[in-house]
Amino acid sequence: MPSHSVIFDNSYICGMSKQNAIVMSGIRPTGFLHLGNYFGAMRNYVKLQEEYTCFFMVADLHALTTHPDTKELKSNVHRVLAENIACGIDPDKAALYCQSHIRETSELYLYLNMLAYLGELEKTTTFKDKARLQPDNINAGLLTYPVLQAADIILHRATWVPVGKDQEQHLEMARNFVNRFNHRYGNVFPEPMAYNFGDDLVKVPSLDGTGKMSKSENQLATLYLADSDDMIVKKVMKAKTDSGPTEPNSTKPDYIENIFQLMRLVSSADVVLHFEKAFNECNIRYGDMKKQLAEDMVKFISPIREKAEDIRTNEKYLTAIMEKGAEKARKSASDTMHLVREAMGLNY
Ligand code: ADP
Repeated sequence: MPSHSVIFDNSYICGMSKQNAIVMSGIRPTGFLHLGNYFGAMRNYVKLQEEYTCFFMVADLHALTTHPDTKELKSNVHRVLAENIACGIDPDKAALYCQSHIRETSELYLYLNMLAYLGELEKTTTFKDKARLQPDNINAGLLTYPVLQAADIILHRATWVPVGKDQEQHLEMARNFVNRFNHRYGNVFPEPMAYNFGDDLVKVPSLDGTGKMSKSENQLATLYLADSDDMIVKKVMKAKTDSGPTEPNSTKPDYIENIFQLMRLVSSADVVLHFEKAFNECNIRYGDMKKQLAEDMVKFISPIREKAEDIRTNEKYLTAIMEKGAEKARKSASDTMHLVREAMGLNY
């Protein structure tokens, strides 16, 4: 093992020392951002940017694994950038950039592919789900998605990755790739960890009680940050309920628990308590609960929608933001790749 490449001591990093923590995450430009993206990812980005070196990217290369048609890619990249800024990302604090603008990512992805095994890639839950959804396009990019994601993260030697619960397995794979690389070539990379402030990772459920909110599936059961007030009300009012519990303090069926979970995200503690009590005392009126949830949801989403709408069409501003972010990201990427090539002995 080359002796010059001991850059990180993982035991120190795994102790989650806050000093010098580097944060990295990304969102795919595959459609409109939704409440799951906000509470699973962006809410944490906004908090983390205050204290840490942050890299947040629009993952356009990842989008190609499921959306090979690039006609709408540019407007989707602009939309995701605008929505990130509207949610509170400050491009002066965090590097906000586009994945394909950092060419080093593809080089690191190639090296990591040699350390990723077919068996483990085929077993990945997201691969199996996506392969089921697009049986005519089970491409190698889809299979190696976790490898590209690991490259995005470790390119900045990031340790904290704010993501939703659906990404937990990918982070575990990223740690495996890191450990294999470090074992074979020397300690270049710290282990990245999925990150959420204080609590467990978040999964925002869809309104129809099945699975998670998602950009491309069950659009009527997903609340988008660009939804009009009327649309938000319509979607919330259509959420599945029943005639209410008949026994005090019953267990909530999943679809009712989902409505409570959404309420906990956007309503005040008093409001949630009121409906919890009504449920436990068997006098809950789901119509009233959904009306309240719709009202609070509109209050939460509409300022984000309006701000994003203002930014989205300002192409000059968005291009400048992306270039500024890419400059910071390229500097960090090229420093890492210098270490990688040295460690691997690709220095002749
Ligand atoms: P999507 O699944 O909607 O295409 P992405 O794959 O681009 O979203 O994920 C972007 C970020 O949003 C990731 O950190 C992911 O974990 C998070 N995320 C997506 N959907 C949800 C959800 N329903 N609940 C919590 N987090 C989510």
